[in-house]
Amino acid sequence: MNDSLDAPLQRLRGLGDHLQIELFAQRDDLLPFPLAGNKVRKLRAEFSSLHEVPDVVVTNGAVNSNHCRTVALMAAERGIAAHLVLHGSPQDESTGSPALRLLNELGARTSVVTPDAIASKIAAVRAGALAAGLRAHVIPGGCHSPAGANAYQEAGLAVFERLRPEFVFVACGTGATHGGLAAASALVSPSPAVIGVSVARSAERGIPQVEQAAAWAGADGIDIEFDDSFRAGGYGHTDPRTDAAVALGWSHGFPLDATYTAKAFAALIDYARRGVLTGRRVLFWHTGGLWNHLDRLQTPQPENEGD
Ligand SMILES: *Cc1c(COP(=O)(O)O)cnc(C)c1O
Repeated sequence: MNDSLDAPLQRLRGLGDHLQIELFAQRDDLLPFPLAGNKVRKLRAEFSSLHEVPDVVVTNGAVNSNHCRTVALMAAERGIAAHLVLHGSPQDESTGSPALRLLNELGARTSVVTPDAIASKIAAVRAGALAAGLRAHVIPGGCHSPAGANAYQEAGLAVFERLRPEFVFVACGTGATHGGLAAASALVSPSPAVIGVSVARSAERGIPQVEQAAAWAGADGIDIEFDDSFRAGGYGHTDPRTDAAVALGWSHGFPLDATYTAKAFAALIDYARRGVLTGRRVLFWHTGGLWNHLDRLQTPQPENEGD
């Protein structure tokens, strides 16, 4: 079985000229998979790491999470049942948001619970499966797992050896992607600076998670470059820099979303404008988020968001 996954590595001439840098993008938003993004690499590796094929996979995330959508897609592809414990309000269940309807179309079972009930619900689903004689596998939320981090260590190493970037920017949520790429950077010389741009967490909360992921990927105790100054007030919030990044990207035909990729790209724009990247070879690791952008285009936006 060939488990390697290929996505295009592209030179972005227009955007690079605009920012006066030599700009490349690793397009994991274009992996050969529906609604591609970094969850595809992480979850492919997670499924491949299992010694026996489970009857049911159980995981948790937001109703609209790329993680849960990708789990549902991969489980459906493999003929495995998926039971998703979704964080949301009972309203999500009754109104049937597009995200929830897609999960149901994919045949996933869904339980929408309040955040305090997630762990007990997962335990109950798992116990129910085992009692019915089924093999159940629980995937951590966001696929923050050793397999996920290692998938990014491998992908990062291949791309860094080929391109030899000096700076790498990536959106950082749970930290498995950033941790894997940071572990890869430690294996090439000279090492690129891998800057994880937080989409939600403060450095205090985020760095330990990235360090854990890097350690899973074989790099214990390396320096983590984590920038939490583009969070715009937290997950799903935006500020004018986020919006400007979305606008600049799309105006050059480069898709960015306000929840993830535009926060990382806003950091890249800021570093470029401050002269830190002038004339340097910069790699933007694109992690997906097209659904998030389309979702946002369909949602009326309040005038002043974030803080
Ligand atoms: C989940 C996600 C991230 C964050 O990845 P982590 O490995 O959890 O840090 C970044 N971008 C997109 C589009 C995502 O869906």
